[in-house]
Amino acid sequence: MLQTVLGFSQKPQRMTQVFRYPESLPKEKAVASLSKSFKLMLNQGFIKPLSSGILYFKPLTVRSLEKLSDLADVMMSRLNAQKMLFPTLIQDSVLKKTGRWENAGLFKLNDRNSFSYCLGPTHEEVVTLLLSNLHISYRSLPLRFYQISTKFRDEMNPRLGLLRGREFIMKDMYAFDSSEENAKITYEAVCKVYSDFFQLLGVDALKVQGASGDMGGNFSHEFHLASNVGEDVIFYCAKCKTGINAELSSEPEMKCPTCDMHLQKCSAIEVGHAFLLGRRYSEPLQAKFETSNQLFEEYQMGSYGLGLTRILAACVECLSSVDNIRWPLRIAPYYLSLILPKKGSKEESVTPFAEDLSDSLNNINWLSSNVLIDDRTNLTIGKRVQESNSLGIPYVIVVGRSAQEELPRVEVIDMYKNEVSFLTHKETMDFFRSKNVFQSFV
Ligand SMILES: [Zn+2]
Repeated sequence: MLQTVLGFSQKPQRMTQVFRYPESLPKEKAVASLSKSFKLMLNQGFIKPLSSGILYFKPLTVRSLEKLSDLADVMMSRLNAQKMLFPTLIQDSVLKKTGRWENAGLFKLNDRNSFSYCLGPTHEEVVTLLLSNLHISYRSLPLRFYQISTKFRDEMNPRLGLLRGREFIMKDMYAFDSSEENAKITYEAVCKVYSDFFQLLGVDALKVQGASGDMGGNFSHEFHLASNVGEDVIFYCAKCKTGINAELSSEPEMKCPTCDMHLQKCSAIEVGHAFLLGRRYSEPLQAKFETSNQLFEEYQMGSYGLGLTRILAACVECLSSVDNIRWPLRIAPYYLSLILPKKGSKEESVTPFAEDLSDSLNNINWLSSNVLIDDRTNLTIGKRVQESNSLGIPYVIVVGRSAQEELPRVEVIDMYKNEVSFLTHKETMDFFRSKNVFQSFV
């Protein structure tokens, strides 16, 4: 994040400066079909629709999304994948070479000279062309590239907010190997890293055999979060942690191929995908490397996606109650909200103490730039605690009456565990030094 790059931390932010403005829900019948995550994120001022399937990501969403992207960057570094940005506009000739220009779901447009383009839905052709005229030795392989960028798909039925948008943010990685065997090693390594990614988020992602769809290729797995609003149906063995997308299975009641137990059927949200592509793209686009015998062979490729905006919403969908958002702790938009005394109350005199405490807390490494001062002092304490709860801020500090005592104490609330403690300045600092939302990070 920015503060680590620049080497200094920002002052705690103030709630009155956060652009939030909750959106009212549509009145018509549409509201019944909205997912819980969509309603919560509209209601709490995280997103706003511009038109169907097209959304603003407001400041709180961007904070969570940046944390999720940072985590994706760390996981990609474990694979020695190099980060890039590919062009968003893709000329028709590029996709015609692989037969994908006629695919439904492309957003197409023309320039002033009547050349045709689409807005990139995925970048297999673009990344393959990057290598097609280079003289790369087998010794330099595998090569792995990724980007985090906006993708476009003309969905037939955009709905559910971030779960199925017409533009969305994805982490897509492409791998180039010298043999099918090596491409499989890459494939297994990426699947392991994806499993670790979801584990670090603290959500239970189910890895199942998937359909290749119009991506082509030989072999694919999907990562799903079980949810009743999910548009996929999967069969899953809880014991062996394996399963299959129902699209691939005609049998109504499947048995696990390993342990013979009947598989459980559930609706699920697809949040990640791995494809082994073989030479599906390297052949038509003439992307070759030099072998140990000085011959030229097409790359064996793989394509690996994580739908970051969809993961964000799917986590909210799976972890939240009807009224209160719950985040995987590490991607909560802020980690701590400090509530100042109400204006005109007897406790107003302790405001400087509260400001001083918030500065100290902001200097604790993991809280840096993640402390929010709730300075809406016209609102009651209760109303503001309730709002922090709805936004899913994990910790709340209330500076109230007991801060006026000789040894001032504040109320520290762990919102996710619903635990309250009354602590002195020093005890509060010790409490937060001992906590860390990144504790599980390895
Ligand atoms: Zn089994």
